[in-house]
Amino acid sequence: MASAVTHAFFSLALGKAFAREEMPWRFWIFAIGCSVLPDIDVVGFSFGMQYGDIFGHRGFFHSLFFAFLLSMSVIGLGCKGYGKFSRPWWGLFFFLLTSAHGVLDALTDGGWGVAFFSPFDTTRYFFPWRPLKISPLGLEGFFSPWGREVILCEMIWVWAPSILLVAVVRGGRKIPCQRLLR
Ligand SMILES: [Zn+2]
Repeated sequence: MASAVTHAFFSLALGKAFAREEMPWRFWIFAIGCSVLPDIDVVGFSFGMQYGDIFGHRGFFHSLFFAFLLSMSVIGLGCKGYGKFSRPWWGLFFFLLTSAHGVLDALTDGGWGVAFFSPFDTTRYFFPWRPLKISPLGLEGFFSPWGREVILCEMIWVWAPSILLVAVVRGGRKIPCQRLLR
């Protein structure tokens, strides 16, 4: 997996790019939750679940279908005070955010691929280009030289483009529409 810190960082960046105004704390909790929740499947290892099982790591909980279910649940929990966008837009945002978890994992250089189409097709997929280093599962590994190497790599390939995305989107909003039409 990519590290939880990077999944959370990406959620904050996407939220900053998507939201057009200050968002309530609940929104940010949901955003971070959607970005890290797919890794709940690592708990299965403690109960004898195998990597390749349907509910194994990077299986169903990393799929687009799970992203759909989770985004609908978040919208169902209420998006009052979520500002200018309508519910379908926020549904799309939480869907993209949850799906992005699998995309980032499929860009890592280790583990198994991601079952994007589970439960309909349990094939595991990786992208042909995988610049991210696989992150250790435990907290201990995260603070090891391996963990430092992972974060450094993610800063280059995820953090920097995320910051750029926020700068471009928010900067673009400040340009008056009339000037763009000229
Ligand atoms: Zn994952």
